[in-house]
Amino acid sequence: MEISIESLKAPCICGKTHPLFVNDLWIESGALRRLPELLHAYHSPAVICDENTYAAAGKTACAMLPNCVCIKLPARNLHANERGVALAKEQLKNAPDILVAAGSGTVHDITRFIAHEKGIPFISVPTAASVDGFVSTVAAMTWEGFKKTFSAVSPLYVLADTDIFSKAPQCLTASGVADLLGKYTALADWKASHLLTGEYICPHICELEDKALQTLRGCLPELAKGSKEAYETLMYGLLLSGLAMQMAGNSRPASGAEHHLSHLWEMEAINSYVDAYHGQKVGVGLLLAADVYHRAAKKLRAGAGTVPYHSIETALLKEKFPEHLLHSILKENDPDPMANLTDETLLAKETELADILDAVPTTAELSAILEQVGGVRTMADIGLDASLRTDSLRLSPYVRNRLTVMRILKRFDFYEEVIS
Ligand SMILES: [Zn+2]
Ligand SMILES: [Zn+2]
Repeated sequence: MEISIESLKAPCICGKTHPLFVNDLWIESGALRRLPELLHAYHSPAVICDENTYAAAGKTACAMLPNCVCIKLPARNLHANERGVALAKEQLKNAPDILVAAGSGTVHDITRFIAHEKGIPFISVPTAASVDGFVSTVAAMTWEGFKKTFSAVSPLYVLADTDIFSKAPQCLTASGVADLLGKYTALADWKASHLLTGEYICPHICELEDKALQTLRGCLPELAKGSKEAYETLMYGLLLSGLAMQMAGNSRPASGAEHHLSHLWEMEAINSYVDAYHGQKVGVGLLLAADVYHRAAKKLRAGAGTVPYHSIETALLKEKFPEHLLHSILKENDPDPMANLTDETLLAKETELADILDAVPTTAELSAILEQVGGVRTMADIGLDASLRTDSLRLSPYVRNRLTVMRILKRFDFYEEVIS
C-alpha cells in the first residue's frame, strides 16, 4: 500500500497548498525493523506503550534502540487525559530527544501531547487498525472531564507493521472500521455547512475521504476472514483519512455528528462511564445519526418549514450539564455556529440538503457492515440505556463549535419527530 506524501503536497484545486507534517509512512510486514535507521540521529529515545502493546511492539522496539527508556503504562483504565499524561511524564526522566508511540489511539494521544509540550518529534507504531487519528496533528483528550482537542504534533514517520496490527484483538479492528465509516456523516456535515453557510470546503480532501471509504468497502469480505492484505487496506484507509485531517488543518473532514455523540458520552454528563473503544462509540453514534439524517431527508423532500430561532438552548444546557462542564460548554458555543444561518437559505436549499443526507448509507447498510466485522451497533452494546437516545441527539451538537446537520435540524419544524 503506497501513499505518496509528495503528491498530496502539490497545490490543490481548492486554491490552497495543504500542509503535511508526516515525512513518510509504511504499511508492510516487518515495518518496525526500519526504526533504528530512522532514529540514528537521536541519542535518547523513549518508547511509550501500555502493558498490552508492550508485548505486541514496545518490547521489540525497545530492544532495537540502545539508550532507550521504555515507558510501560498500565493498560487498565488508561485514557488520554491528565492522569495518562502524568503517568507517562513521571517515568520520562531522561530528557528524551524523540518519542516512539507503540500502541493504539490512547497511547498516541498521550505521546503526541507530551511531544508537543517538550517540542520534540515522535514516531508512530500503531499496534491496531483501530482509529484514523495516528497521523493527526491534534490530540483528543479529556481534560478535567471536558472532551477537548489540543494542539499537538504529527508523527514524523508511521511504521505500520502488518505482523503487529493484524494480530490485534478483533474488537479493535472493528473499531477502526467504525471510525472510518463515521466519515460518511462527517462529510455530510461538512458539505451541508458549506451549502448553507459557505464554509470552506476542499473537494480534493473530500475525495481522499471517499477513497478511504471505498477502499474499506472493497476489503470487507476479506477483512472478515482475517486476510493480512485486508488489514493493510483498512490501515491504508485510516492513514489516508488522518492525512486528510492534516491537510484540512483540523478534524472537519473526519469528525461530525457521530463523533460529537461519542464525545458527549465520554463527558459523562447524562450517562455514567462508557467502557468502550473510540471507534465503538463512534459506530453507535453513526447509526443514530444516519437514522436521523435519512428521516430528515424525507421530511425535507416533502417540503418542511422552519421554526423561529434565537440562540443556543441555554436553559436546556443548564439543566442537563453538571456545573463543572457547563462553563466549558457555554464557552464552546460562543459564537453560535448557527447565528448566520437564515430561514430563507434553509428553505431554498431543502432539496440539496436532502441530497447530501441521502448520500449517507442507510442505517441497515451500515449496521450490516459492522455486523460483518463483528462490531458493536446499539447503545445497549456499549452499556448505554436506549432512553438516553433523544437527549444524546439533542445535546451532542453542543460539545463542539462546529456546524453539523444534527444541529441544523433544530431549525426545522420536524426536528422533534426525527429525534424522538
Ligand atoms: Zn484543497
Ligand atoms: Zn475518530
